[in-house]
Amino acid sequence: MGETFIPLADLRYAAAPLHVPADAAAPTGLIADRLGRPLRDLRISVTDRCNFRCSYCMPKEVFDRHYTFLPQSSLLSFEEITRVARLFVAHGVHKLRLTGGEPLLRKNLEVLIGQLAALRTTDGEPLDLTLTTNGSVLERKAEALKAAGLQRITVSLDALDDATFRRMNDVDFPVADVLRGIDAALAAGLAPLKINMVVKRGTNDHEIVPLSSHVRERYGPSVVLRFIEYMDVGSTNGWRMDEVLPSAEVLQRLRALGPLDAADAAAPGETAERWRWRDGAGEIGLISSVTRAFCSDCNRARLSTEGKLFLCLFASRGHDLRSLLRGGRTDDEIAAAIGHVWRDRDDRYSELRSAQQAPAVSGERRVEMHYIGG
Ligand code: SAM
Ligand code: SF4
Ligand code: SF4
Repeated sequence: MGETFIPLADLRYAAAPLHVPADAAAPTGLIADRLGRPLRDLRISVTDRCNFRCSYCMPKEVFDRHYTFLPQSSLLSFEEITRVARLFVAHGVHKLRLTGGEPLLRKNLEVLIGQLAALRTTDGEPLDLTLTTNGSVLERKAEALKAAGLQRITVSLDALDDATFRRMNDVDFPVADVLRGIDAALAAGLAPLKINMVVKRGTNDHEIVPLSSHVRERYGPSVVLRFIEYMDVGSTNGWRMDEVLPSAEVLQRLRALGPLDAADAAAPGETAERWRWRDGAGEIGLISSVTRAFCSDCNRARLSTEGKLFLCLFASRGHDLRSLLRGGRTDDEIAAAIGHVWRDRDDRYSELRSAQQAPAVSGERRVEMHYIGG
């Protein structure tokens, strides 16, 4: 048999082979891992490339011109992604999020969106199909995304002040372009729109109140601004606990703009704690990834650009789905392999971190956010 060429960039993160159980029972839409958590949400990374160099995700010193990104031949094709998504849906997934890198840099992404939008849940309902973007090319793409079947969108925006925003993205990208992208997305009907702000103490925390005030006044309830605690994901961002601004402090600062009331979670497993402005200006979300672990309801799986399945954001090892896809396996066999690995899942990194029992960093490199998509 001829040898298969595997590009070096594919070997950056360890991957375990996926076991296809002999008794490949068809998926029932009801599956639980070892901690009783169902499989509801699949995040699909469509590229490991990005035009920004946010220091908390792709620091310039590491992701410079010498860095080797995945070659085109390694990426899952749109047909392969759609096939995997369909098998996850058969296991009960009802939410798909496209991410990256910067997903809008993947050529012809609208074609993939069209294919995913045609999938139906086990109850025959359309899926919740969304995408997370840095917004840099959104103004140009919003209408086509909507027309292809995208329902809603999340835009990352770490500051309203132009100088701070340019520093955060570290490629001198102007904030005005992203703000125009948000307007275009709303005009195209991508709703409800969410804005994610990663807060780094001492870097952009002074933007919490101005950004929030802008969102309240300009968009009201049609935009939900969510604040994310800066996470220790990957191993290149030089994360330090003293740069995390706890959500409790974000909330305290927001109260300067008016009273907020706690609101119930919209769905089980939702990562954001919701708060509503009492004056009717909509809501905000707090994602306390560091100070309040939400592993006990974590129903998310992640598919990397080249087809590795990760069961936790903090994993260092994926499971090689691509070799099953390209190895002539049937849908039933691949679905059974996914079921097997999910049933065996017991990941709960953030809970262990909170209990100061996080596993020591092993020789294996933890996945980076630009690669797996958050
Ligand atoms: N490029 C797109 C974007 O920025 O929206 C999608 C991919 S990006 C990896 C997805 C999300 O992860 C973004 O909202 C980003 O701000 C967030 N993120 C990246 N690194 C992070 C970190 N260390 N802590 C918390 N959030 C992070
Ligand atoms: Fe790119 Fe998004 Fe990472 Fe920023 S957070 S570097 S925009 S992938
Ligand atoms: Fe889920 Fe892992 Fe995050 Fe816990 S640490 S919420 S298991 S992705």
